[in-house]
Amino acid sequence: MSDETVNIEGAVCAPPLSHNEQIVMGHGAGGRMTHQLIQKAFLPAFDNIALRAGDDAALLEAAPGLRLSISTDAHVVWPLFFPGGDIGRLAICGTVNDVAMLGAKPLYLTAGFILEEGLSIETLQRVIASMKAAAEEAGVQIVAGDTKVVQKGKADGLYITTAGVGLVRPGLKVGGAQARPGDVVILSGSIGDHGIAVLGARGELGFESSIQSDVAPLNHLIAAMLDASSNLHVLRDPTRGGLGTTLNEIASQSNVGIVLNEPAIPVHPQVNAACEMLGFDPLYIANEGKLIAIVPPADADVVLQAMHRTRYGEEAVVIGQVAAEPRGHVLMKTALGSQRVVDMLAGEMLPRIC
Ligand code: MG
Repeated sequence: MSDETVNIEGAVCAPPLSHNEQIVMGHGAGGRMTHQLIQKAFLPAFDNIALRAGDDAALLEAAPGLRLSISTDAHVVWPLFFPGGDIGRLAICGTVNDVAMLGAKPLYLTAGFILEEGLSIETLQRVIASMKAAAEEAGVQIVAGDTKVVQKGKADGLYITTAGVGLVRPGLKVGGAQARPGDVVILSGSIGDHGIAVLGARGELGFESSIQSDVAPLNHLIAAMLDASSNLHVLRDPTRGGLGTTLNEIASQSNVGIVLNEPAIPVHPQVNAACEMLGFDPLYIANEGKLIAIVPPADADVVLQAMHRTRYGEEAVVIGQVAAEPRGHVLMKTALGSQRVVDMLAGEMLPRIC
């Protein structure tokens, strides 16, 4: 009997999948497996200062005093249309938001389309119209693009990749590594809406739901926040992997602890109900129109007030605080007064969500 076929009597657990030999869905979930793939496969090959910063966009000094924020994002959401949005709006907002999270004004986008043979022109035109509307809302232009077609069955309708560039306001130092003990953690609104809306569109909820995706361009919200305070430390959108994963990224980048106050985190009742039924935690469900802001305590009130005056920041609330310890980790104080560790999303929860 070879080592591979040894049968341990009474063993109940299946052997773990070999995640080191081939790509599995979890590598695209934005959680720990995505991070490990980046660390092992991409970073060693492409290593440079901008990439190593680990933010969703790269901060580049194009000329003295001229700083650019550049980002790219691929969109494979299924189905193409869902309550509150579609793949086109997502493709614009995803990149606009990542560019803006470094304190930049997004200006120009490019779009690459991978179309499946047989896709109706009417569907493509609906997606294009949605992209046009989202780009107008964000105030960006799509200035270059590419179109490829693959055979029927080789794609799921269409995929869209966008890239974007924006100008960073002079004097700002916003990034995932800038959180400091004592800082206040602000969330712009309720979590989990996007992921649950997409799931509902797939008919996987098992009940009728009116949950809408929150997909939205957040650059005007960010501009209002920067007008109120030039002292923002971190801005980040909790997309794939959800709030829990994103806060872990920041805790790790800044080498600080983050302590959340669970009752303060807004979750719509329908999202909570869906999560309870399906065994999901809203902390790990994707959002596409929310941001986390980490700001010095002296600036928290003025930033919150500025957020409340904008369309996508009306429900902004303080959800926690940055602490010196435990470094690199996120804790949550529950409604009952206990405390638990909030880890990164471990594997895959909802595939093809963005
Ligand atoms: Mg992002």
